[in-house]
Amino acid sequence: MQLMTQTDPNELKAALREKNINPTIQRLAILECLRSTRSHPTVEEVKKMVEARLPMISTATVYNVLNNFEKNGLARAISVHRNSPQRFDGDLSPHHHLFEDSSQSLIDIPIESVSIDPKILEQYNISGVEIILKGVKRA
Ligand SMILES: [Zn+2]
Repeated sequence: MQLMTQTDPNELKAALREKNINPTIQRLAILECLRSTRSHPTVEEVKKMVEARLPMISTATVYNVLNNFEKNGLARAISVHRNSPQRFDGDLSPHHHLFEDSSQSLIDIPIESVSIDPKILEQYNISGVEIILKGVKRA
C-alpha cells in the first residue's frame, strides 16, 4: 500500500519493456500518472492528469492504455458500482479499498484490516481477494 514513487523515466520504460509494451510517450505519461497518485482515477481523470503534457490525447487512447496495463499486470481495474466508471490503481501491492460515499473517494485500506475465515482458506486455494468496503465517514 505504499505510494509508488517509481516515476523515474528509465524505470517506467523498463517496467513497460518488461511486459513487452512499447514505451510510447502516452504510455509513459499514463504509467507515471498511475504511480504518482493514490486517488484511483477513472479514465477521464487520468486523461485530465496527462493532458497538461499531452493535450491531444484522446479518451479512447487513455482507455486502451489503461486496459492494456490491467491485462499485463501493471494496473488494477476496480469497479465500485455497476453504473459508475471503472477506476485504476497503479499500486499492485496487496490491499483492500473503502469507497467513501459522501466524497466518492476510493481509499486504500491495509490488507490486515479484513480477515478471511480460515475454513474458506482450508477449502480453496485463493488466487485473489478483492474487497471494497462501502460507507460514509462518521462525523
Ligand atoms: Zn488502491
